[in-house]
Amino acid sequence: MALQRTFSIIKPDATERNLTGAINAKLEGAGLRIVAQKRLHLTKAQAEKFYEVHRERPFYDELTSFMSSGPIVAQVLEGEDAIAKNREVMGATNPAEAAEGTIRKEFARSLGENSVHGSDAAETAAVEIAYFFSGLELVG
Ligand code: GDP
Repeated sequence: MALQRTFSIIKPDATERNLTGAINAKLEGAGLRIVAQKRLHLTKAQAEKFYEVHRERPFYDELTSFMSSGPIVAQVLEGEDAIAKNREVMGATNPAEAAEGTIRKEFARSLGENSVHGSDAAETAAVEIAYFFSGLELVG
């Protein structure tokens, strides 16, 4: 498997509890390199555009309100098989189902406020990275 990049967000429930460093330690401990990172506060419209694929889901308004409720940390992670590796260290979407040692098991508050986002495929990773970062900001 070649070196791969994925997109990650540390969500508002985690920045509120000052967990950026603890989550980054988990990511780095899993062999992922943070090659870009910035803290920002999305508007509702920016969150809606990011989660466009979920527009028809019943939780869309709740999700985008939450994601624009406080600061987030947007990241690009690099490593061997980075997309799958990040999904593994994140844990299941619902923290009640997340494996021991995963970020969501340790830190998530609920299904909605689940501390991290991670791209689910190479195509979405490319789109999500480009939504937040320019090429010059990716320092591998
Ligand atoms: P992920 O790829 O593991 O983040 O999961 P999904 O792509 O299925 O969902 C995207 C995000 O929507 C999740 O990370 C949750 O924050 C949120 N979400 C999913 N299901 C629900 C739900 O039933 N209620 C609420 N409030 N949020 C949800």
